[in-house]
Amino acid sequence: ASIVRGSAAEVPEVSWDDIGGLHEVKKRLQQAVEWPIKHGDALARLGIRAARGVLLHGPPGCSKTTLAKAAAHSSQATLFSLSGADLYSMYVGEGEALLRDTFRQARLAAPSIIFFDEADAVASRRGIGESGSSGSGSDTSVGEKLLSTLLTEMDGLELAQGVLVLAATNRPQAIDAALMRPGRFDSVLYVPPPDKESRLEILRVHTRRTTLANDVGLEVVADSTECFTGAELAGLCREAVMAALRESLASNTDSNVICKRHFDSARNGTRASLSP
Ligand code: ATP
Repeated sequence: ASIVRGSAAEVPEVSWDDIGGLHEVKKRLQQAVEWPIKHGDALARLGIRAARGVLLHGPPGCSKTTLAKAAAHSSQATLFSLSGADLYSMYVGEGEALLRDTFRQARLAAPSIIFFDEADAVASRRGIGESGSSGSGSDTSVGEKLLSTLLTEMDGLELAQGVLVLAATNRPQAIDAALMRPGRFDSVLYVPPPDKESRLEILRVHTRRTTLANDVGLEVVADSTECFTGAELAGLCREAVMAALRESLASNTDSNVICKRHFDSARNGTRASLSP
């Protein structure tokens, strides 16, 4: 089938510097991820229990996945990815098997991070509609079985040093309270949409490898992209490059400089998805 199975397993090549803005989130995540993995013994001596899970929440396209990759990279941890929506749509029993198997592999590969995207699809508060399902009895029990498997696996991490679960959701209020108990998802971090300063940093990240003409003011672009997500800003930069490329192909010049007009044309073709 076309289901994307839990994908193993590599140390990603994304660093904290590839993420614009979010300084506080990066700092908190760095502590939650790097300290237990790098200084696990010291924490244990001090009697401090390392976090087993961190829940990231915020609107789509604002770098929750990228944060997980950077966290894994900075601690040289192997990153395993799971999607709640994928697990939910599998045949009965398959989702639980994949969950258990991913946790097993993560323990073997420690230090490792399990990134659990769209967590609300399986971790929804019992009884409320999961994943937009029709709420039929069998759908509910699929979600409950996955949730109880997840709880068992999270609790099993106690003895496995160096495995951290990073879950992401756009609907934190839907997450089952059982997951939020101490020792499971201890920290909850809000990943906000970018403000103007962060938009500027994101634009800088995504134009690092391009040559900008003097007439390009990234501050002006940042100003004119209110309500853009990080993903949309990345798309805007890609579009500006494409506009410049089209122009140089059409005029048979070999210029790869990106000018203000290319950003203008990209801006005109892109709509913001967030509302104020
Ligand atoms: P979703 O909830 O839809 O899965 P997400 O919050 O996980 O979204 P990402 O997948 O991490 O978002 O972001 C998508 C793309 O947008 C990234 O590959 C990256 O190029 C860009 N992006 C988003 N936020 C930032 C940022 N703060 N700095 C740099 N690039 C960003």
